[in-house]
Amino acid sequence: MNDCLFCKIIAGEIPSSKLYEDNLCYAFNDIAPQAPTHFLVIPKTHIASISEIDDSNSAVAGHVLSVIAQLAKELGMESYRVVSNIGEQAGQSVRHLHFHVLSGRDMTWPPG
Ligand code: 5GP
Ligand code: ZN
Repeated sequence: MNDCLFCKIIAGEIPSSKLYEDNLCYAFNDIAPQAPTHFLVIPKTHIASISEIDDSNSAVAGHVLSVIAQLAKELGMESYRVVSNIGEQAGQSVRHLHFHVLSGRDMTWPPG
């Protein structure tokens, strides 16, 4: 998508601190980390949020979750939180599906 920040990051038009990449997804450190470890995992295809997931694109979403599990193991993360904000009121600021992966500090519940 032309005017999407994360599509530009995937294309290399905006620099990012890459952790992992394959043909379906891209993982990179969040620019404003909210925990000692805070990275984002995004599909390479433009999907606006979880609200756009259906049977035609759920395989890529499942792959993203599998990559999160593998990356967490590789990074030695035993406890972590995965968050995906959907819509403005929930705090979504970039309309390209992304999963936040946060670790390395105590977390509170419910989230704010
Ligand atoms: P949201 O607010 O949509 O749930 O999450 C968007 C996330 O993208 C935020 O945590 C924000 O810090 C991060 N972000 C925004 N712009 C950039 C950028 O240019 N580079 C990186 N690495 N992260 C960004
Ligand atoms: Zn996009």
